[in-house]
Amino acid sequence: MNTHWQQVLKQIWGIEATLTRLNGEYDLNFMATGDCHYILKVMRAECKADFVDLQCRAFDHIRNVASAVPVPAIIKTENGAFFTTVADETGANRIVWLMEKIAGKVYAEWKPHSVDLIHDVGVCVGGMDKALQNFEHPALQRDFKWNLTQGDWVAQHINTIDDVDRQRLISDIVQEFLAIKPVLDKLPDIAIHNDVNDYNIIVDGLLNAAAHVTGLIDLGDMCAAPRICDLAITGAYIVLDHPDPETALAALVKGYHSIYPLTTVEVDLIWSLLRLRLAVSVVNSTLMAQANPDDPYIVISQTPAWAFLESSKVNSGLIAARLRTACGLPITNAATRIQTWLDKERGNFAPVIGQNLSDAPMGSLSVENATTPQNPFDLTQQEAAGIDMEAPVWLGYYAEPRLIYTDAAFSKGPWKAGNRRTVHLGVDVFAPAQTRIYTPLAASVEFTDNRTGHLDYGGIVILRHETPDGDTFFTLYGHLDPTSFAKLSSGQTLAKGEVFATLGDITQNGGWAPHLHFQLALSTDGMGDDWAGVADPDALYLWRELCPNPAAILNLPDIKTAYPQIEKADVLAARQTKFGDNLKLTYANPVMFLRGWKHYLFDEWGQPYLDSYNNVPHVGHAHPRIAAAAFDQLKRMNANTRYLHPAQIAFADKITAKLPDALNVCFFVNSGSEANELALRLARAHTGGKDMITPDHGYHGNTTGAIDVSAYKFNAKGGIGQPDWVHLVDVADDYRGQFRRDDPDRAEKYARLIDEAINVITSKKGKLAGFIAETFPSVGGQIIPPVGYLASVYKKIRASGGVCIADEVQTGLGRLGSYYFGFEQQNIIPDIVVLGKPIGNGHPIGVVITTREIADSFACGPEYFSTFGGSNLSCRMGKEVLDIVDEEGLMENARIMGDLLITGLQGLQNKYDIVGDVRGYGLFIGVDLVTDSTSRKPATQVAEYVKNRMRENRILMGTEGPFDNILKIRPPLTIEEDDVAMILTVLDQVLAEVENRI
Ligand code: PMP
Repeated sequence: MNTHWQQVLKQIWGIEATLTRLNGEYDLNFMATGDCHYILKVMRAECKADFVDLQCRAFDHIRNVASAVPVPAIIKTENGAFFTTVADETGANRIVWLMEKIAGKVYAEWKPHSVDLIHDVGVCVGGMDKALQNFEHPALQRDFKWNLTQGDWVAQHINTIDDVDRQRLISDIVQEFLAIKPVLDKLPDIAIHNDVNDYNIIVDGLLNAAAHVTGLIDLGDMCAAPRICDLAITGAYIVLDHPDPETALAALVKGYHSIYPLTTVEVDLIWSLLRLRLAVSVVNSTLMAQANPDDPYIVISQTPAWAFLESSKVNSGLIAARLRTACGLPITNAATRIQTWLDKERGNFAPVIGQNLSDAPMGSLSVENATTPQNPFDLTQQEAAGIDMEAPVWLGYYAEPRLIYTDAAFSKGPWKAGNRRTVHLGVDVFAPAQTRIYTPLAASVEFTDNRTGHLDYGGIVILRHETPDGDTFFTLYGHLDPTSFAKLSSGQTLAKGEVFATLGDITQNGGWAPHLHFQLALSTDGMGDDWAGVADPDALYLWRELCPNPAAILNLPDIKTAYPQIEKADVLAARQTKFGDNLKLTYANPVMFLRGWKHYLFDEWGQPYLDSYNNVPHVGHAHPRIAAAAFDQLKRMNANTRYLHPAQIAFADKITAKLPDALNVCFFVNSGSEANELALRLARAHTGGKDMITPDHGYHGNTTGAIDVSAYKFNAKGGIGQPDWVHLVDVADDYRGQFRRDDPDRAEKYARLIDEAINVITSKKGKLAGFIAETFPSVGGQIIPPVGYLASVYKKIRASGGVCIADEVQTGLGRLGSYYFGFEQQNIIPDIVVLGKPIGNGHPIGVVITTREIADSFACGPEYFSTFGGSNLSCRMGKEVLDIVDEEGLMENARIMGDLLITGLQGLQNKYDIVGDVRGYGLFIGVDLVTDSTSRKPATQVAEYVKNRMRENRILMGTEGPFDNILKIRPPLTIEEDDVAMILTVLDQVLAEVENRI
């Protein structure tokens, strides 16, 4: 059969290609693969020429008028026609036409459906409609079931649906449509695509670049209808399986509007039309299913549409407002008039608490400024009651992101690191309980309630107001004494300046320090009586229009009560001018964090991130015991090691108790780099040698000497190169290195490489000082050397007169779960142990511990002194960290959580070929990503993608290794089971995206 159509292709277009049959309900579609790729369309025998002519001319028109809109080119026949008619093998005449094949995948199969991609869909559909507005064709005028303006035909078939609730649902949708139909009928018809479904959008993009639409295809459903139908139909498919359909639809409409601006009238129609399209779709398939009872697929294909229609994922009362604000259009028709009137009346309203607030100070409860709550997941009763400033009356900001909203009602999604509503939508007036509340302008009572839940409103009143133009708006008063307004009844009118309530005390107002929450709303559609007082920062574009700054009604300038939010972009720009370019930021879209708690960090909007990367906060970010010990010591004094202090002894005792007996002399410094620097001096002082042997790709710090022994730095692009006294050996990587896990002698074989290095030193008449290695190389790729490796290496080094330095900065202090130090896993005792960053939990500390013998050799030299190393404060910090690890059982937690993580990651390894290796102990884990598990070729681009996508999903994770292809998981030791589940679930999704893309 193909050969026939291959010949047609050759005869009519002069193109030689092999054909592959594609899916198609009625027509024959072939993918033609030759020098270029084409789609050959062989229409069903009864297909009318003007129907094909319409499509060809429309595609051609779009390409001519709007070259940026991605639609396929129609390849004309050698005779210059868009299509022609040929006989098929049976002799029947068939229309044939040819178009370019667009690179990419259909939207339905593309992952992820990001907001940016959806916006691009909107841009393309908008561009297409704009191009089509002047397109005319006789075949456009047709009555058919997919023309949404006639979609109420479904009403006649409601009885074919079995379920009564579903019947009612479809009937409601039709009623809603009939209500808007007169408006729709007034809109001009243009030629529209009419079926931009998720199989008619082609998407492409490199892994680490933005995905974009490369094609809108299939004009087979074109008709003449208002353009808003085209957008609503696209919207119907965009929202279907999207986890956040409101945001998705807003992005689509915003994209469309940016190219082909919509009117508010049109935007207000989208939701009803979108639902009608889904109703048409489900009724149509119900009818088809009845006509084809043996085809179960027809019923199954309805499932997502029913699920969406039956779900309450979208607040339909708010959707028009949301879509309007996404487009930058006024939220309601009256919004601008109301705002103008309020502005004009500013200064004339009756004072809400009976006094002028112009001089009342502002107090900030923002993420940036406040330290309440200490635990951003749990505002305590005491904290809520204790919010205060030294002023009898003070004001809290409008549009301020805060961490005080910790109730589950403010969080979205299954994880702690999910979106939270954080941004305050009112102005707070802090004043004593029983302060009288006055009506700022004539009102009628809309609603009263007493919400008795902890941290809820307590007594609440909503008033309705009317401007002289007859526009209504509302004000809300929260945290009132419920007894004070018990006599108010709904609809009761209140005169301007009339007292209608008093402020509640903490027993009446949800447990807060007494204050009034004062909020304005320009509409209450979709808000019910339970107005959101706090918004998700990602939805602020909507909420700040719906509930604008109420300063005017408080007779204050807007600027006084508007929170001056810190902007990431400003901080970034300033950083670029104030610092060197090799001070790097992580992530394509950098993050700014202002608060932390345990293994969570919070950005400037109060959104939480799960920190699975940072090992410095060993016992957790912002540990209260660390803060308390620091404060306590700083209140007393902070001096250096030239004076006696018991804290030095306590810290040294604590560390040496964790180490083998021989390691009993401590030196306190300020960083891992300084500690390694000192370790080198100790080795040289003790051996009289200078030469060092160290594994490749190691990292020991940023100082001159530490860089000299850090191949990761000196061999990096622009690095200083390898000093002649440093000798590199292969890192004992038994996954990717020269000796692998299938070789039982690999530990010994890697160790033998030391012999060669020693020979080089001997032959150049050098003298060995020692061997330095991270026990488990970290920047080298989270490597776990085979057991026996370091024991053999140490033997060789010592036999040649050198000392052995174990850099335990990454591996020490319980992180490995089963071992307090990494060297325990290798059954060795180093001569010098180096500890660094985790031991201070953020406070800069390094420690070197060695034998008395080595310390004595070093003591023959000049005095050793480090001004800040071993300060009273540092010793208190270090001891506190070690105590917390013990007292909170964090090493055991590292073991349990590490096992869970590693087991889960191994599950992902079984599922995805790109996960080459999972290795680690406790909470020191590496996931080696490869292009395929056979070649083990490092998948650097994939790792980059995964890291950035994890961050977009609120998980911090790093990449590491010589090829930057190893995911580094190294969280604070406080991590819990839910966090492990989040990491595994999200990583699974992101890896699925990768498999989908490569
Ligand atoms: N050694 C190792 C193994 C390290 O990972 C680091 C820091 N990442 C250092 C030393 C240097 O420590 P610091 O940055 O505190 O100087």
